[in-house]
Amino acid sequence: MSKIHVLNPDISNKIAAGEVVERPASVIKELMENAVDAGADLITVEIKNGGISYIRLTDNGNGMSEEDAKMAFLRHATSKIATSDDLERISTLGFRGEALASIAAVSKVELMTKSDGCEGVYLELDGGEIISSQPAGCPKGTTIVVKDLFYNTPARMKFLKSDKTETGYITDIVQRLILSNPNVSVKYIVDGKERLFFSGDGKLTSCVYSIYGREYAKACVEIQRYENNINISGLIGKAEISRGNRRFQSFFINGRYIKNHALTYAAEAAYSNTLMTGRFPFFVIHINLPYELVDINVHPTKQEVKFSNERMVCDQVYWAVKTALASAADEVRKSFTPPAKPSLIAPALSEPVKQLGMSMPIPPPVKTTLDTANMMAEPYEPIAREDDHADGQEEISYRIVGQLFDTYIIIELDEKIVLIDQHAAHERMIYEKLLKAKREKKPIGQILLSPVAVTLSPDEFEFVAENAEEFFRLGFDFEEFGNNAILVRQTPVNIGEDGVKALILELIQKMQASTAAMPGKEEEIIETISCKAAVKGKSSLHSLEIKALIEDVIRTGGVNTCPHGRPLMISITKYELEKMFKRIV
Ligand code: ADP
Ligand code: MG
Repeated sequence: MSKIHVLNPDISNKIAAGEVVERPASVIKELMENAVDAGADLITVEIKNGGISYIRLTDNGNGMSEEDAKMAFLRHATSKIATSDDLERISTLGFRGEALASIAAVSKVELMTKSDGCEGVYLELDGGEIISSQPAGCPKGTTIVVKDLFYNTPARMKFLKSDKTETGYITDIVQRLILSNPNVSVKYIVDGKERLFFSGDGKLTSCVYSIYGREYAKACVEIQRYENNINISGLIGKAEISRGNRRFQSFFINGRYIKNHALTYAAEAAYSNTLMTGRFPFFVIHINLPYELVDINVHPTKQEVKFSNERMVCDQVYWAVKTALASAADEVRKSFTPPAKPSLIAPALSEPVKQLGMSMPIPPPVKTTLDTANMMAEPYEPIAREDDHADGQEEISYRIVGQLFDTYIIIELDEKIVLIDQHAAHERMIYEKLLKAKREKKPIGQILLSPVAVTLSPDEFEFVAENAEEFFRLGFDFEEFGNNAILVRQTPVNIGEDGVKALILELIQKMQASTAAMPGKEEEIIETISCKAAVKGKSSLHSLEIKALIEDVIRTGGVNTCPHGRPLMISITKYELEKMFKRIV
């Protein structure tokens, strides 16, 4: 008796479904691609429970006749290619004729579709079998509903993650589809709420704006290059919007989102030394080239491609990015005129300083009388070193001499010149304060003068919502503000309105990159907050700000490095100076 038999279509479709339909996001990808292939310029995607219980996709594309609609669910049924020659020049996103058959095999599907000159039709399928077919009154286009995904393949069901995580994967697919088709308007609804809307105005910048927000759209540079039949276009982010991971990088080949390491490295190489290690550039790069130069039929989900000449494509990407970055840097250089303002801190020289016609008063040397009982009062109190708890009073004389290169503070203290790195020092001070509050389990937080609305990308919003408790514990207070925005009322430390968003984004990335069990995670997060909240190098400080900082530094005496281990201050003694000037030998 022969042991070999051909599998019945029910099983073979389930097997095929295993390759094409890994999770709800794969369904969304296939359905959206079908809508684009059908010429739609209006797509609505709705999901519930991470797409596991419910997916609905509506498009205004060409629709199908009743006959086609029934055929569409058969395996290898496609209208997009006919001969093997066609395989060499695939201009549509789909061509394998597998998606609808695979999806239908592992779910309950309803389809409503109408094409020009035909009556509309409604089909209902269960596990791939058509169980009902009726005429339907509907506008031209297609609506497909996919319910109870994997209800008949329990093993696959077990591999699904939480609804939130599955929603995240879907959001990613929806965003990529928007980035690849700026002419298509997309509405995305999650659990009854509109999460994303893109108008389809044809502009890639608008895509970036709706998906990632204004900050990203503003910090992008256009790229454009055409050579050897390869056209490169798109938007690349300046260094300031680099990220801690590669999730905000996209490549599209002839309109199809793909992943390719060589291309990624080519684009990143063009940034060479402009990014710190561990930072990855933001980019959306479209590559258009003749169909015969690229094979897209190498992977069932078509996310990987093979180029006939990968090196050449990589080179074009590299040069497109490199040239755009270089000309953006040129623009900055041309527009830069040094600020014509006096430094706000009054240098304590022996004579008034004339700067731009203004004469500045000279502050007298500061002499403070210490009263240790009173030392935590803010901010102009007498100061004492924290390790000095002798009762009674000690007097420390110091004098702020000035600020150097808008980065270092010079003080005269204890017969020494002390140079303090303002950023490192400030960062260390905040770090110590937060760590102390954490050790003593004291609540921290600085209420903002007026609440700040922060618009996040859908992914980011979801992450923040999911981890709100942790943010609150860190000293944040915020509430949902609609359209992926949060209204922030309190931050862990004083950070200024402009810094709020940057801090939250940075924390999201840090938290995503680390796991709860990681040792030192809290410290790392506190470090991030301190770094963001600290005054930057290259910014002129008000004399009062300098004074407050210096007093903090002196008070904490012993600490000599910033949390990253960079030195916080260096000093030259009067003795060394006298040696240098050969006053003493
Ligand atoms: P493929 O996209 O690879 O051709 P699918 O299984 O995804 O295979 O779809 C099968 C066929 O059904 C398509 O070739 C197309 O003719 C038709 N079809 C699928 N979705 C739509 C849609 N939204 N609008 C019009 N026709 C569609
Ligand atoms: Mg398809």
